[in-house]
Amino acid sequence: MLKQTLLPSQSNSHFYPALALLGATTIFLIDTFTPLDIAIAVLYVAVIMLSATFLSREGLLAISATCIFLTIASFAIVHWDDLESSAMIRCLVSLSAIMVTTLLALKNNKATHDLRDQAALLDLTHDAIYVRNIDDVIVYWNVGAEELYGWKSEEAVGRSVLDLLKTKFPKPIKEIMADLADANRWQGEIRQTKRDGTEVVVASRWSQQRDDKGRPIATMVTNNDITDQQRAEDDLHKAQGELAHVTRLTTLGELTASIAHEVNQPLAAVVTNGEAALRWMQRDVPDLKEVHSSLERMISNGRRASDVIARLRALTRKTDLIRAPLDANELLEDVLLLVERELISKNVALKLNLANVPLPVLGDRVQMQQAIINLAVNAVQAMSTVADRPHALHIRTHIGQDENAQKTVTIEISDNGPGIDPAVIGNLFTAFYTTKSEGMGMGLSICRSIIESHGGKIVATSEPGQGATFSVHLPVREDAA
Ligand code: ADP
Repeated sequence: MLKQTLLPSQSNSHFYPALALLGATTIFLIDTFTPLDIAIAVLYVAVIMLSATFLSREGLLAISATCIFLTIASFAIVHWDDLESSAMIRCLVSLSAIMVTTLLALKNNKATHDLRDQAALLDLTHDAIYVRNIDDVIVYWNVGAEELYGWKSEEAVGRSVLDLLKTKFPKPIKEIMADLADANRWQGEIRQTKRDGTEVVVASRWSQQRDDKGRPIATMVTNNDITDQQRAEDDLHKAQGELAHVTRLTTLGELTASIAHEVNQPLAAVVTNGEAALRWMQRDVPDLKEVHSSLERMISNGRRASDVIARLRALTRKTDLIRAPLDANELLEDVLLLVERELISKNVALKLNLANVPLPVLGDRVQMQQAIINLAVNAVQAMSTVADRPHALHIRTHIGQDENAQKTVTIEISDNGPGIDPAVIGNLFTAFYTTKSEGMGMGLSICRSIIESHGGKIVATSEPGQGATFSVHLPVREDAA
């Protein structure tokens, strides 16, 4: 809209000045040398209106004065010896028309300049701003847009924004247009292609302009280049992923002995049951019922070993983040398969209070399991420093509510270890904070970034000397909320 409709075009061509000069000369000649008894000089208003499109205030005043001079000159030449009153009136009418038109043109000229100054302000910003009409044709393109995309205003204006910038939207354009129609605004991240073919990621804010009747006429788009920021975020995510992977391996390393046992035990049972089955078969009268149950035990033990290995392989594999529908209780079952043996070997009683309703969340299974394993291993390690009471790990799941009254799935992991000093409870989630001689201090920091990247929250509470509770709150999956 701006420059195109509000401001007169600032043509550099000599066409309009030449036309104005030709017009003024023609009017003067007709007024002076033809015997027409009409107010020809009134036509000078056309010259003034034409001049207003390319002249400044001073120039316009000069043209107006020239038109007045020419009108009086014609009158003087033609009616020098015969001052008839009708000619005098025609002359006065023409002069009044010239003056009124000049006044109006000056007023219009000022408004135009004010608008041009305001529009020029948009060129001061570093943001790329463009306006597109309802047919997606660009009608305004500021200096920021020229710098970001590489096309000059004259090249961009008049072209379809979709063709020019090959915009890729985060969701179907129909949905975006519906949001824009509802709220008159939209904002989001989009990818566009510059003149040199490279892609930019921009934070885009759209505002819809409507006419008096409320019909949309144009959309102003303000874009900020966030390509570098996006790249840095991607690199950071990658680095976090690598770190999470290393920490996962470290935590699993702490469980190696118990996991090895967890796999060995069913394998030993497979062998024992296999031998038993053979013995039942080698009898004079083979006892097929016993053979059958030995084989069943072999199968179930074999399955258990393969389950543990499968969970372990999933956790040690380096995969990209995959968000999938999960159930918190099922996640815990998988985790317990890997930590149960550790609990037994460290004499920790397990108390489970799992909600008997679905606990739907959306998340990366491996990362979630990593977070819970880490909390459980920390609890076991903390309790190992307490010798005056039996150790118990209490895991509870339930549906709760966050401070915005949104439904959450909550997983609480409590121990009856030494608890946490209130003075340091705020530092627990800081990277490299550890009180263990062999500790890395990364576990809880990674837990927090995992949970927060899933839109959740992790909170530590403690009754010093009595134990600690880590509560993980995750948003209930949208399709199930
Ligand atoms: P690390 O286990 O390598 O020390 P973490 O980030 O997992 O790193 O834990 C940081 C610190 O938080 C631990 O060193 C410990 O002091 C404290 N902590 C974690 N869990 C508990 C718990 N259940 N009870 C008491 N202290 C805990």
